[in-house]
Order: sequence, then structure tokens, then C-alpha cells
Amino acid sequence: MMAAGMAAARGCQVTLIERNARLGKKLVITGKGRCNLTNNAEIEDMLLNVPTNHTFLYSAFYTFSNADVMSFFENLGVPLKVERGGRVFPVSDKASDILAALQKWLRASGVQIVCGRVKQISTDGDKVTGVFTYDGQKYVADSVIVATGGKSYPMTGSTGDGYRLVKTLGHTIISPKPALVPIETQDEWVKDLQGLSLKNVTVTLLDQNNKKAYSDFGEMLFTHFGVSGPLILSTSSHISSENIANYRIVIDLKPALTFEQLDARVQRDFDENSRKNFNNGLNMLLPQKIIPVVVQLSGISPYKPIHQITKGERQAFVHLLKNLTIQLKAFRPIDEAIVTKGGVHVAQVNPSTMASKIWQGLFFAGEILDVDAYTGGFNLQIAFSTGVLAGNNC
Ligand SMILES: Cc1cc2nc3c(=O)[nH]c(=O)nc-3n(C[C@H](O)[C@H](O)[C@H](O)COP(=O)(O)OP(=O)(O)OC[C@H]3O[C@@H](n4cnc5c(N)ncnc54)[C@H](O)[C@@H]3O)c2cc1C
Repeated sequence: MMAAGMAAARGCQVTLIERNARLGKKLVITGKGRCNLTNNAEIEDMLLNVPTNHTFLYSAFYTFSNADVMSFFENLGVPLKVERGGRVFPVSDKASDILAALQKWLRASGVQIVCGRVKQISTDGDKVTGVFTYDGQKYVADSVIVATGGKSYPMTGSTGDGYRLVKTLGHTIISPKPALVPIETQDEWVKDLQGLSLKNVTVTLLDQNNKKAYSDFGEMLFTHFGVSGPLILSTSSHISSENIANYRIVIDLKPALTFEQLDARVQRDFDENSRKNFNNGLNMLLPQKIIPVVVQLSGISPYKPIHQITKGERQAFVHLLKNLTIQLKAFRPIDEAIVTKGGVHVAQVNPSTMASKIWQGLFFAGEILDVDAYTGGFNLQIAFSTGVLAGNNC
């Protein structure tokens, strides 16, 4: 949409071909329906949030920056706000407002929107000449911008068609893999916590050498297969898929308290509940659902009267609360990933124009490229910035 509108604004006659009956099916579900459209970090910090091929995006991010994205939407009449971590959302908290603004802009710019699924890109010599759709239509064009997205959430229309379309033209596709994805875990007890959401916890990712690969504070969720939620999606970006089973996460259930402070707190709770059994004395400290699990993991009998718990047992329990460890098993399938890692090899794309280095008139924008970012609005920024370059240069 951004690429089409920019090309039209420069006087091109533009046809936007979308396989779904409506535009932006993925856009409207972004940010849990609120659309975290960019981040107000410094551009250098934005680039640090792109683990794959960030140098490829220098030109795109500087040409159409996060500030440009914000003024673009505000000029289209969508007021924005900045939340924790620099995340930018529409004030209305409605992703549909972002989509509506883009659609209105496309109409005003004269972009012709047609419903069709592109089957093939036509060529002549070293130039692209247009596209064919599955319903037998031929569209003739001097330039083709491929912005078919990745392979994640295929119900939204991004089923990876673009990879095949350009692979047949000789473009190298780096194998698509899930990124920002929920994780299956090995420990059976995790399933007992299904549905439990933990807010204000710290998750630390350790590799096979006990080296810290990532750590952050926020919210996570237990599911029937393992773990999900914002902290886990971000964690997934720091794991290589080949040896995920060697990684584990360590959850600090009480990150605001030091070991000593938490020990004092537990001691206080124990004093107040000294006549109760261990499993009945933790209600003030932890969510109900997690109590049987941590009691079992502690090795202390649930029926042990609290006044009989030794100092050593209590301190081991406190250690457990600050170091709840879960062994990872596998990523969930790419369908469930927020973004796709991999895609069109960036070495074959001009970073200043998004033009193919192989075919004259062929351009790329968005997630089809082998770039992906962490959560925080960076992935949509990539789509907007590369879209502007492709639209301006086609
Ligand atoms: C649940 C979820 C939440 C997200 N939240 C955020 C967020 O808050 N912030 C953020 O920055 N990023 C977020 N993302 C990531 C972000 O949505 C994507 O990176 C971004 O949408 C990529 O834009 P795109 O235009 O490249 O691809 P897409 O948005 O996938 O659009 C590609 C379009 O091409 C169409 N298409 C595909 N093949 C064909 C074909 N053969 N012919 C015609 N049309 C075709 C598709 O139907 C689709 O409409 C989220 C992703 C998901 C799944």
C-alpha cells in the first residue's frame, strides 16, 4: 500500500493487486488490533532492533524514518501516541484507523485496486513486463513491486507466493523460518500452567554454555504446548532454530526484590501462616495456579507445617522463585510466527532503491525481503520504509 501510493503520488499509473477481497488483513490484526506502527527510538537504535541484515536498511530508514511514518499518518488525520518502550500506536487504539487512512490516501492518489492472485511475473530480455493472475488476467507494466509479505499467519494472505514468483526469475530465497514465535517446552509441569499470564517478570535466556543470550522484563503466557506472550516472542529471536533444545529460560517471578528481600518477605509470610501447611501458606505471594507447581518443584512436602520448614528449605524455595527454569524444545510452526525470517537475498537488491539487481523494473518491499526485527513497531517500519523507496524509485 505504501509503495503503491508513493508511486502514484509521483505520477505513475498504479495497479495494486491484492489476492484478498480487502486490503490489509494482516495490518488490522497487528499489535493485538491496535497497530504498533513504529517506534520513536533514534534511528541507530531502530537498526539495533533488526537482527537480520540491518545494514541493508540504512538507506530505507534514513529516507523514510520513524518520524516520517508518524507525520505521514498524522497528516492523514490519525493522531498517534507513544507508549512504553517507544511503541507508537494510534490514539484510538484501532489498527483499522491506520488501514482506513491508507485506503483513503490510495484512492485520492488514483491507485487502481484490483482483487486477484498473481501467478507469474512476465519478462522480456532483462526487463519485467507485467504480471499474470490465476484468473487469466494480464497486467502490463514497466515496473513490478513485489510486496507479498512472508509466510506467517497465512490466513491473512501471506502464504509465501512471492518467494516462488521471484525464485523462478533467479532470485535467491533464504529459507523462510519462524521469528517472534511461541516456543514448545520440555518440562511437563509447564502444561499445568496453561492459561496463566505472568506480568512483571524477568525472563533470561541461557544457551548450552550457561551464557546469557537475552534478558528482559515484561509479560509472558503459559500455553498447552509451552510458552508465549511478548517476552517469549522476543526471546525467540535470540535462539538459533538448529539447537533450540539446548536453550533454557529462567523466570524471575519477583524481579523487583533481591534474594535477601524476597527471603525476608517469604519469612514474614511463613511467620503469619506458621500453623498452615506449606501449600496453603503461599496465597499472598503467588498466583493461585502456580502454587502447586512451585511447591512440587521445591521438593518440600505440600503438607509440611510451615513452622517445620528449615532455613535451608526456605532459601532453596526463594532461589526457585527467582530462577524458575524451563528447558526449551522447539519453535511453533511458521504459521504461528509474528514474522518470517529469511526471504529475498538482500545482496541481490539495491538498498537505496529496493530495485532487483537482476531484473530491470523489478522491486521489493516489506517482509518478503530477508530482514526481520524484534517487537516494538520495527517490522511495520521496515514495510513502510522499504515501500517508500520502492514506490519512489519504480
Ligand atoms: C499477529 C501479528 C501481529 C503483528 N503486530 C505487529 C505490530 O504491532 N507492529 C509491527 O511492526 N509488526 C507487527 N507484525 C508484523 C507485520 O504485520 C508485518 O511485518 C507486515 O505486515 C509486513 O508487511 P508486508 O506488506 O510486507 O506484508 P503483508 O502485511 O503480509 O501483506 C502482503 C499482502 O500481499 C498479499 N499477497 C500475497 N500473495 C499474493 C499474490 N500472489 N497476489 C496478490 N496478493 C498477494 C497478501 O494477501 C497480503 O495482503 C505483526 C504480525 C502479526 C502476524
